[in-house]
Amino acid sequence: MTTDILHAKLKENFGFEKFRPNQEAIIKGILSGEDTLAIMPTGGGKSICFQLPALLFPGITIVISPLIALMKDQVDSLKANGIQACFINSSQTETEQQFYIESIVSNKIKLVYVAPESLSYLENIFNTITVSLIAIDEAHCISAWGHDFRPAYTNLGYLKNRFPSTPMLALTATADKATREDISQQLNLKNPQIFISSFDRKNLSLEVRPALDRVKQIIDFIKEKPNECGIVYCLSRKTTEELAEKLQKIGINAKAYHAGLNSEIRSKTQDEFINDECQVVCATIAFGMGIDKSNVRWVIHYNLPKNIEGYYQEIGRAGRDGLPSETILFESYGDVIQLQKFASEGLNSEVQLAKLERMKQYADALSCRRKILLSYFGELVMENCGNCDICKNPPAFFDGTVIAQKALSAIIRLQENEPLAVIIDFLRGSKNAYIFEKEYQNLKTYGVGIEISWYDWNQYLIQLINLGYCEIAFHQQNKIKLTPFAKKVLFEGEKVQLTTVKKITVDQSEVKEIKKKTVSNSLFETLRKLRYEIAKEENIPAYVIFSDAALRQMETERPMSDEEFLAIEGVGKTKLENYGAIFIKAIIAFQKDKPIKKKKEATTYKETLILFQNGLTVEEIALKRNLGTATIISHLAKLYSDGNEIDLSSFVSEDEISKIKEAQIKLEFPNALKPYFDYLEERISYDKIRIGLAIIEKEYEQNQR
Ligand code: ADP
Ligand code: ZN
Repeated sequence: MTTDILHAKLKENFGFEKFRPNQEAIIKGILSGEDTLAIMPTGGGKSICFQLPALLFPGITIVISPLIALMKDQVDSLKANGIQACFINSSQTETEQQFYIESIVSNKIKLVYVAPESLSYLENIFNTITVSLIAIDEAHCISAWGHDFRPAYTNLGYLKNRFPSTPMLALTATADKATREDISQQLNLKNPQIFISSFDRKNLSLEVRPALDRVKQIIDFIKEKPNECGIVYCLSRKTTEELAEKLQKIGINAKAYHAGLNSEIRSKTQDEFINDECQVVCATIAFGMGIDKSNVRWVIHYNLPKNIEGYYQEIGRAGRDGLPSETILFESYGDVIQLQKFASEGLNSEVQLAKLERMKQYADALSCRRKILLSYFGELVMENCGNCDICKNPPAFFDGTVIAQKALSAIIRLQENEPLAVIIDFLRGSKNAYIFEKEYQNLKTYGVGIEISWYDWNQYLIQLINLGYCEIAFHQQNKIKLTPFAKKVLFEGEKVQLTTVKKITVDQSEVKEIKKKTVSNSLFETLRKLRYEIAKEENIPAYVIFSDAALRQMETERPMSDEEFLAIEGVGKTKLENYGAIFIKAIIAFQKDKPIKKKKEATTYKETLILFQNGLTVEEIALKRNLGTATIISHLAKLYSDGNEIDLSSFVSEDEISKIKEAQIKLEFPNALKPYFDYLEERISYDKIRIGLAIIEKEYEQNQR
């Protein structure tokens, strides 16, 4: 299969101009019958890797996927692109299942999605159908090493024996080596080709903030973007509900989502979010696996995640459409302590604790966060990313030796017997009951740190812990202990570099109800509304029709013909047929109202200019560029007016020019061409008039000088 054919198929069926990294290589491998393991980050574009080959194979492609909700969306997306697909699962009635089975048997379906539990529905027809490809999505679910083990997946190993010559494609976003090997082995893949895509998602900004006044910070953040939806991940169910309530109170359309809610409420919330009806979902990690919403514009972690895999997958739900998206992680020591407790009490505690430690190191990083993240996934990055808080705002170091000495002495005075909060109170000379009860006010170093705020002390102590001078004894009520390195600072004159505490300015004014900003009357909003209405009518998620990225492109490029519309990313043949006319109509109406110069014009003119300078005729250029001759003529006129040295004398005679001039004066310089055409009794063509006017205008300008 040649690259050209694959590209043509990609555009025709999915509307994309080019492949993302590895997609093409994976597809070529599959088409030549190879078993493949594809590791790609969330949003990396896994689906195309089996959807495109499915179109080229004679038989059916079976897609094993763990989530029923996701299947429906994927099938809707395929159908919107004119591809015959269905799913079979336990949510359907027997009649429905029968209907689809028959469609499969009669070769009407190119892709069938099925949950591993429901494979049995297909087994009866295995002998009567040609299975061309088997794709196992979320393949890490097969491995107990992974973070999302599903027992039903372990039965999938028989598929390879049943269909020994059918290529199998396993896909996952979980990269670690143990899981990877486990997947190949358990699925009985034959010498699989392994593709590991870069996990870098450049469009996601990365930011970590101290968890001071989180709710306020979140509200301030959301207020700035009333039309953008996002997810706030919380550790506990209770937090999701409390936060959603607080947001609702001030008029933000927020909902809670967690596994404790009944499935009806959950799927309602999920649907509303997908359809842009609910702006914010406050969720536990139970949310997100089953959604493929491409325009999630931000993801906030209210609490520290348990590990980097989970964190990366969760932030990966933002910006799947490739547009810039924001992520914020709130770090609090309270969370670390709680997570440490969970991890040490749970299964496999050593591994879990180590993973948590890496997460914490990421949050406390003082160098480019993206480098740290990617190195976790085994990628070495040389350049700083420029899109994380550290790159944007590098930490400033100062000599913190005295601060360190005070803190470490305080820990000694308190006999390594108190947690962080008490140490800070002690340093700050607090007069609270606990201090007096213990008579700490009589110890040396009591109050030596009064000039530093509580909040800053907290940050400095955390830095000292990260630097390894002291540590938290999690199994002893979180008492702070010194490490052997502390004595270097206390007695051996070692200098300590600390970083200045970043001031988070939380708007201290009271949280007021958010005034509903009138939705901006941009073309984007107009098209978004249109998309929403169509989605409602057709009962499919809005992003299935067009992604936000596609709407943005329509906004800047303003396509007004089929051909221009087809050039938009995500517009393939079927979408052009189904939605082209109505969107173009909306764009033209908007353009009349609020005209802009199309950005694209500069390049399109230039292309015409180059061809003309190379001696091509107008007809040849039109043919080559797949544009009308009138368009090319208008390009030439414009190019000439803009001062390009081109010879237009062959298009219009001196005599014709003088007639056009005469008309111009008689008609008092009309804007449109039609009056000229009529005045000249239709004897001089529109093309000639257009060019003639450009020449006259130039002459006039030159005479003025
Ligand atoms: P994953 O399953 O890896 O999370 P998807 O297959 O859902 O990712 O793809 C993520 C998004 O990227 C989707 O909106 C999809 O339409 C889009 N996409 C995939 N491949 C391309 C491509 N070659 N060009 C542009 N967009 C693409
Ligand atoms: Zn960076």
